[in-house]
Amino acid sequence: MKILVTAGPTREAIDPVRFISNRSSGKMGYALAEVALSRGHEVTLISGPVSLPAIPGVRLVRVVSADDMSREVRTLIPWSDALIMAAAVADWRPRLPSATKIKKSAQVRCLELEPVPDILSEIRAGKGDRLFVGFAAETGSVEAEAHRKLQAKGLDLIVANDVSAKDAGFEVDTNRVVLVTPDGAEQHLPLMSKRDVAARILAWVETHGADTGSRV
Ligand code: C5P
Repeated sequence: MKILVTAGPTREAIDPVRFISNRSSGKMGYALAEVALSRGHEVTLISGPVSLPAIPGVRLVRVVSADDMSREVRTLIPWSDALIMAAAVADWRPRLPSATKIKKSAQVRCLELEPVPDILSEIRAGKGDRLFVGFAAETGSVEAEAHRKLQAKGLDLIVANDVSAKDAGFEVDTNRVVLVTPDGAEQHLPLMSKRDVAARILAWVETHGADTGSRV
């Protein structure tokens, strides 16, 4: 299959020097890309700024902002049989980024933020028979939020985890996830390496992917 994976955080500029971002290390997305390649798939990885090395054999597209990520996802969707959105795309960004460095001052500053358009929701109309897999990083009500986001974003599978746990979620090599599907089923996986989580997700994708011989 042709598998498009997104990984890492995005950076949203405040000015040419400063940005807002999040704690995503990219480890889950890179594990997905690596394991997908090892299972014989063609893989393109769209990555936000991370400190992980490129994976030989995986086409790497580097991006910075949510806008960049959105543009690259839209460009590559027609190529793909499955999209796995493991990236922690920003939910808000500075409304009016400054073209010049904002001067330091002792005054309290307010930063006005605007919502970032949801990439998955926006590309939903062109989904066709492709599989869309999303992630949900939560700090409570993990299952309830997963069901809600699965519906809201029109996903085939959502991988949810509690990022307040020390051994799961951001920055670490292990994860404890729940796989939720549109039929309402929940599959609770035990603590495992991100590579093993990736293998479980890819096994699901391989089982549920449509016949994809015709895409270019
Ligand atoms: O709503 P929330 O950000 O928790 O949703 C997480 C899922 O949605 C992830 O799969 C993420 O890649 C995706 N997402 C997106 N566009 C955004 C924010 C998140 O596609 N602007």
